This record gives sequence, C-alpha cells and structure tokens, in this order.
Amino acid sequence: AKKPGQTISKGHKNYDLMLNLQLGIRYSIGKPGSMQPRELRPADFDPMEKFWTRFPPEGSKITPPHRSVEFRWKDYCPMVFRHLRKLFSVDPAVYMVAICGNGALRELSSPGKSGSFFFLTQDDRFIIKTVKKSEVKVLIRMLPSYYRHVCQYENSLVTRFYGVHCVKSNGGQKVRFIVMGNLFCSEYHIHRRFDLKGSSHGRTTDKVEREIDETTTLKDLDLNFVFHLQTSWYMELLVQVKLDCEFLEKEGIMDYSLLVGVHFCDDISASKMCPSPFFALPKLYDQKETFKWGDIWSDLCFSSSTCQDMDQILDTWKSLIRLGVNLPARAEHITGTESEPPFLVGGGGMSTPTGSGKLHDVLLYFGIIDILQGYDITKKLEHAYKSLQVDPNSISAVDPKLYSRRFQDFISRIFMEDT
Ligand code: ATP
Ligand code: CA
Ligand code: CA
Repeated sequence: AKKPGQTISKGHKNYDLMLNLQLGIRYSIGKPGSMQPRELRPADFDPMEKFWTRFPPEGSKITPPHRSVEFRWKDYCPMVFRHLRKLFSVDPAVYMVAICGNGALRELSSPGKSGSFFFLTQDDRFIIKTVKKSEVKVLIRMLPSYYRHVCQYENSLVTRFYGVHCVKSNGGQKVRFIVMGNLFCSEYHIHRRFDLKGSSHGRTTDKVEREIDETTTLKDLDLNFVFHLQTSWYMELLVQVKLDCEFLEKEGIMDYSLLVGVHFCDDISASKMCPSPFFALPKLYDQKETFKWGDIWSDLCFSSSTCQDMDQILDTWKSLIRLGVNLPARAEHITGTESEPPFLVGGGGMSTPTGSGKLHDVLLYFGIIDILQGYDITKKLEHAYKSLQVDPNSISAVDPKLYSRRFQDFISRIFMEDT
C-alpha cells in the first residue's frame, strides 16, 4: 500500500529543517551518557537554557559536520522524555533509526488549521509536529502532572509525547516541535478517520462526498454511526476518558479531540461496489429499518445544558448504521505486541441496524490529541466573537470545564454499551 504523505527530498521547503532535526535527535539520543538511567529529580522538569547546542557546518567536538547552515539545537527536559520513552516502551535505538535513519521523513499535507507541519517517520511510528511557543510553554508547565498522569494510568488516551525540541538556524526563525506517537501506526489499513470534539460549529469535512477517502479527516457532523462496545469496555473507556478529561481540565486545556481510526476487517471500503461505506451503506438498507438516535439513546438520560447542542446535531443525522465493536480485554490479542495499550486498538463487528444482516468486523484506533491549547486570550476572543453569530455551546472554543463536560458527554453517546 502507498504510504501517506510526501517524501521530503532535496528542494523541499522543509528539507533543511528535516536535516537539522535529524542531526539534533541523533545527537540528543546518541550522545555519551544519554543512555545511563537514573532517577528523575525535580530539576529535570526545569527547561534550562543550558541545553542549547551549536551545530557548525564544519562540526565540533560534540557535533558532526553537516551540509546545511549553522544552527542551534535545544532539548527540553531531556531526562524526563527519556523516562517517558522508556515508560512507553520506545527503544532508544529504534527511536533514533526511525527519525534519523537512512531516508527521509514524509510530510503530511497540513491536516490541521493551525499551520503546523506534520512529519511522519519511515516506520510510521512517530509524528513530528511543529508547534507554537505557547504550546511548548503549556507542555513544559504541565510536564510534571503529565508525567504523573501517564505513569499512574497506563491506559491513558492522551497523546504520548517522546520529545520537545527547538531548532534555530542562523538568520532563521526558531522552529519548535514535538515528537509524539502516531495513533494510526498499524499493519492494518485505516479506512476512515475521525477528529471528534463534541462541538458542532464548523465540524464537517470541507471535502465533498466523492473526494472523501481514507486520508480525509472527518469530523463530528460526518459521523453517522455509533460504536458498539461490550459493557466492560464501555465502562472502562468512559472511566479513562473521565480521568483524562479531568487532568486536561485541571491544566486548563481545551480544543483537544478524540482521534478515531476505523479499519474494516472485511475491507468493504476496498470493494468496488461500495467505495465510500459510511455514506453508501445506509442507503443499502430500507430506511424504515434504520435506527434513530432517539431509539438508541432513549433510555439514557441527559441533563446538562450542553446537550441541547448535540441533540440538534443528532436530529440531523437521518440514516444510521450501527458499528458494533467488541474490544478484546487486551490489545495483544489482536496485534500480538505487548507494548500496545489496550485502548489504542480494539476489534469487533459492525452490523446492520436490524442486526440481521452481515456482520462487519472492525478494529478501532483512538486517542486524545492536540492537548496543548490553553484557554488563552485568543480562544476567549474567538468564543466571544463566534457567540455573536451562533449558539455559544456549539463553538469549539469554550472554557476548559465546559469543554471537558461536552467532550465526555459526546463520547458517552458515540460509543454504545452492548447489552
Ligand atoms: P487545529 O489546531 O486546527 O485543530 P493542529 O495543527 O493543532 O490543528 P492537530 O489537531 O494536532 O493539528 O492534528 C491535525 C490532524 O493530524 C488530526 O486530525 C489527525 O488527522 C492528524 N494527527 C494529529 N496527531 C496525530 C497522532 N498522534 N496520530 C495520528 N494522527 C494525528
Ligand atoms: Ca485539533
Ligand atoms: Ca491545535
């Protein structure tokens, strides 16, 4: 299968940046002493300036010669990230080869609105995202509690961060970036991906139906089915989402998403008959047989005022199919790898609304991404401005408490307990 993204080769606008960050990472991971394990100290969480390193083209005592202009390199809290990589079972050698090994990174065509660049490593395991100064600040500020959180909850869904760095070339701007885990690193093809926030305003893909394919990031309003989980998984998922949201809320974070990737085991989306299953499938069945959200959820009670917003959305979802997912107790059952946390991968089935038709097995990949946005002045202004035009509850930019409540509420609705 064709790998996503465009290879960054010579002449690409980010070619030098890629070389710099490869040199930087190789230096950071490979330098003498970087392998010696030791306990973390409070000072390790302090992003001290002393981690700037000069990379002259001719090389230095500690850096290799290279072909781009001189640049400086900064490692933020390297000891903490070394511990985090260990916690997430990322072997230093594998990490270094994935990012710096022979061959180039691939650039994903700007998936977000923020203007960030996204690079994917050769092996698909890691995503490198350029971030704003404010996002680095947020990450460094939350690092002690992030560390505590991911240590305490091995099934946490929040983004796995493996490193934060900054490159400044002579005469150039500072470029800050994070290295994180790719949620969709899998031997299984991801047929559909959804970026879900629980808000409705502007939450559709800007692509028209025939352009939609597996690389399209679909959004809340594009979701026209529900994920069916066995009870124990449903409960476990909601508890973990709650814990993660409480953590993000405490850190004053908002605007994050649940990123969901769906793999159809019987590969129905590859079938010529049905190139766009999510949009074509409902039409295959008699409309009368189609589930309505009201039927599915009637016995659940919604009380918070933020629900009004989603109720309106649900009304607009006409035809629905049910996606039944029976997640295994452990991800290893599916993937055979022990490092994969159970929540990132699951297997199960998708059935027709009546439950009588054929059953489609699916695997789900998901996690909470884009967790470095605080409710800052820009977001407050965005809220104030958009509130003049649309229902304030439908806007993505709301304060972290409301955001977290609306997010959890949404997740409890798109996943359904299998009874
Ligand atoms: P915005 O702030 O406008 O939402 P952004 O530039 O901050 O955008 P993100 O929301 O972090 O970007 O990511 C944009 C898209 O990139 C996601 O919807 C998803 O498709 C992809 N993506 C981001 N992080 C990951 C990840 N860890 N694994 C897989 N895909 C990811
Ligand atoms: Ca986002
Ligand atoms: Ca963002």
